[in-house]
Amino acid sequence: MRIPGAYCFLIITNDGKVFAIRDTRGFRPLCIGWHEPSESYILASESCALYVLGASLVRDVKQGEVVRLDENGMDTLSFYRGERAAHCAFEYSYFAHPSSIIDGHSVYHARKELGRQLARTYGNGADVVIPVPDSARPAALGYSMEAQLPIEEGLMKDRYAKRGGIRSFIEPRISDREKINRWMVAVKEIVQDKDVVVVDDSIVRGTSAPNIIKTLRNAGAKSVKMLVTFPPISNPCYAGIDFPTHQELVAYRTCGKNASIEKANREVAKAIGADSVGYNGIKELCKGIGMKETELCLSCHTGEYKCLKRTND
Ligand code: SF4
Repeated sequence: MRIPGAYCFLIITNDGKVFAIRDTRGFRPLCIGWHEPSESYILASESCALYVLGASLVRDVKQGEVVRLDENGMDTLSFYRGERAAHCAFEYSYFAHPSSIIDGHSVYHARKELGRQLARTYGNGADVVIPVPDSARPAALGYSMEAQLPIEEGLMKDRYAKRGGIRSFIEPRISDREKINRWMVAVKEIVQDKDVVVVDDSIVRGTSAPNIIKTLRNAGAKSVKMLVTFPPISNPCYAGIDFPTHQELVAYRTCGKNASIEKANREVAKAIGADSVGYNGIKELCKGIGMKETELCLSCHTGEYKCLKRTND
């Protein structure tokens, strides 16, 4: 039996065996760790979980691989048929933990390099660079180093707010996403009378970006340029990330399915109220992550879903 699509799953049997299975394109991460004190293998969706437990990363589960763990140790079998990889590019930009290493690539270094790429394309004319906390911090650092502009923590999550630590993207209801973004506080002393570059990992629905821009303007920013490490998302994800319709995506609502980066920069800036917006394109994204276009899934940007079909390409 062949199962197309994106999946990683574990099966624990009644007789104590554990099976880990990763799809043939490797959309989502899955890795094997080793815990020396208990002499045990560990399976985790991301290597960050291993470090917390004091375990080390052995390797990723390969595309189309079944790993079996039992009292005799580990063995594997493969149902991979040469399909090209389609690792989710969004994991590197936003979703994964920055301390994780996925398919041999450090998420932290990818984010920092994505920020450097932004600086190479858009890097001039600002007084200060600030990250949207938390996931855009490495990208803002990369941007500031490359553009040689000072970086400051000009936006803070309100640590006294009950839900300030939650990521707005994963909240199921729009009202909850908006509530979380109200708990983003600008540091007036940093942004007042400044031309501000604010670096974010992505603009998906356009819920948080307008609030962030408004917060910075209310704190006295002279101008706000928003730079975004992930290219415009104008198509749904059918491979496990929660944006299932075109209509909820601000890049689609403002520019249609496959607009150029220039058009998305222009139209999304108008929609979110920024002075300007600058997205990385595919070339910059691949360079930042350190993978070829043909190793990554980029469907939510390109609208091309060939990797989700049951073909060998
Ligand atoms: S469509 Fe986008 S979010 Fe979904 S798997 Fe592909 S790159 Fe990741």
